[in-house]
This record gives sequence, structure tokens and C-alpha cells, in this order.
Amino acid sequence: MGREKVSSNDVHRLFLQAVLSRRMMPEKVARTLWVKCKEAVASVGDVNIDAGDTDDGWNAFIDKVQQALNPLDLEFRNMIDDNSNTRVYALLNRKGDDIAQLASDYNPAEIAYFKAVVEQIILSPKYVYSISSLGALRETASIKPSTISKAHAETLLTSFVARGWLAKSARGRYSLAVRSLLELNNYLEKYGDECVDCTICHEKVYKGIMCATPNCKTFLHKQCADTLRRHRRGTCPTCQAAWGEGGAGMKPLGEEAYNGQKEVRRRLNGGDDDDEEEDEEELDGTQDMSQTLPDSEPSQSQGRSQAKRGGRQSEGGKKGKKAGGRSKKRQE
Ligand SMILES: [Zn+2]
Ligand SMILES: [Zn+2]
Repeated sequence: MGREKVSSNDVHRLFLQAVLSRRMMPEKVARTLWVKCKEAVASVGDVNIDAGDTDDGWNAFIDKVQQALNPLDLEFRNMIDDNSNTRVYALLNRKGDDIAQLASDYNPAEIAYFKAVVEQIILSPKYVYSISSLGALRETASIKPSTISKAHAETLLTSFVARGWLAKSARGRYSLAVRSLLELNNYLEKYGDECVDCTICHEKVYKGIMCATPNCKTFLHKQCADTLRRHRRGTCPTCQAAWGEGGAGMKPLGEEAYNGQKEVRRRLNGGDDDDEEEDEEELDGTQDMSQTLPDSEPSQSQGRSQAKRGGRQSEGGKKGKKAGGRSKKRQE
């Protein structure tokens, strides 16, 4: 006596209560929470709950959680964070204005600035998905009436990085951080044609590797590339080109693909911007090129030099469905 009437459904109810009070969480934290919820439910009632932490058990549990969320138009979404190489989870609204959540931390002009920076990150030179800090500061001019000074913008950029919306690379370039990719999924949908999907997991990929064969549409998260290497040694799944050890035949996708390409400001469906500041562009490129990246992995540096060698030639050849909407200027 004294035992509560509980069922295994109480585990996912408890889990969702815990998740609701949090933002994004790494898979490790989510799974620890799951195990703790199972222990809590088992401790108060007679119920047969498998206490273990297995991949199959976790996946089945996540399916169950998602089924409970479907009628509410909520989603327990997950995604690989390419900066930390870990999977992260977040409870999100399927519909609705997800960028409105920034209003708790930023005023309308600041949100407009954030949107402008995000747009230039996504519309940056092909497959680079990042902009220089000068490029980001220049976006203050796109906020009209102009209420964001460059000093204010610098503070904001630091804040966007600190709050997990943007990532800043060793070279000082800004890209979208996993929080934006997860939590602003609805907002980012309008840029769908500018983005590429991972060949393995079919999620959007803004940072990872791509096949160096011109026109080949293999784009991969780093973690998905590792999975592929384990199962299928040394060939591209799309064009069957040989991928050698150390990244030969592949090149970086995302910030690491930046090679001093000219940053031409673009607007979605609006072509190139006329009033770009040429002198800043040049200074910008020189500055970025002169900085040396820490090369921790030989595969990355080789991939990068591969991109440099093949850069110009393959850029011209990469026209296709995804590239169709891009401006002529960009293809050269
Ligand atoms: Zn992937
Ligand atoms: Zn290929």
C-alpha cells in the first residue's frame, strides 16, 4: 500500500515538464533527464520500466514524446551542432513566429539588425554561410531609420554570440549557431532555396564538407561524413569519385570554405546591392586572408587547399537547381 498508480506514460509527462522549463539541451543532458524521470516514476509506483539507457530505448521514447506533442503542434526537434559535433534537442513550436522570441532580449531595431545579419550570412558567397565582422557591422546601414550605431552593433554581435544565436570563428567571421538553426526553423524557411541538405540525414547543412567534384551535390555534416566513412570507404555516394585519406576529393562547406571571395551584399530575391562600399570589401578580404587558422586536423587543411586550387574553376561549374536563383555576379 502507499504506492501510487503510475504508468510508463508518466515518464514522458515528467520528461516534458522538465524540458518545458529549459531551452536547448545536448543529447547527453536529455538522456540523463530521461533516466532520472524513469527512476522517479519507478520509485513511486508499481510499474515495469526498463531502467537502462540504450539507443533503441531512447529512440522509442523520443517517438512517444513526439506523438504526445503532435496534437499541440509542438516538436521535440533535434539537430547536430557542427561546432560541438554533438546532437542537441529543443522543444519548439511547429508553427508561428519563432523570431518573436528575440523580443524578450532585444528591441525591434535590434531584431531588425539581427535579421539583416542572418540574411547576409545565408546569402554570402556560395557555400560559405558566414560574413566578416566588417560585413556584419555594415548591416547597420540597412536598418532604416538608422538607429543602430556601429558601437551598438558590436555589442549586439557579442550578445548574439553569447546567447547562442550566432557563432564567431577564429577568423572573426559570423555564422548561424545551432540555436538559430533549431529555434528559428520557421523563420529560416524563406531561405530554403539558398540552403543545401545533408546527403545522409537530409537536414540543412551550413557547415561541414562537400564533394570537390564540380556539380556534385554531396553535402555532409562532419558527423554524417564520419558515419559515411565508417560504412563506405573512400567514395562519394553521389558521383562515386574517390575520396582519399585526409580529405582529398572533399572540400569544406561553411565558414572554412571562405577563401577571400568578394563579399557582395545581396537581398533575398533582390539581387546585388548597388551601394556597397568597395574599399571596405577589399580591406575586409585582405584582413581575413592574412590571418592564419589553427590547423588542428590535417584533413581540414588539405580540404581547404583543395578548395583554393579548385575554387574558381569549380565555382563556375556548380550551377544547378540550388544555384539557379543566384545572381550572375556570384557565379563568376
Ligand atoms: Zn547530416
Ligand atoms: Zn561527389
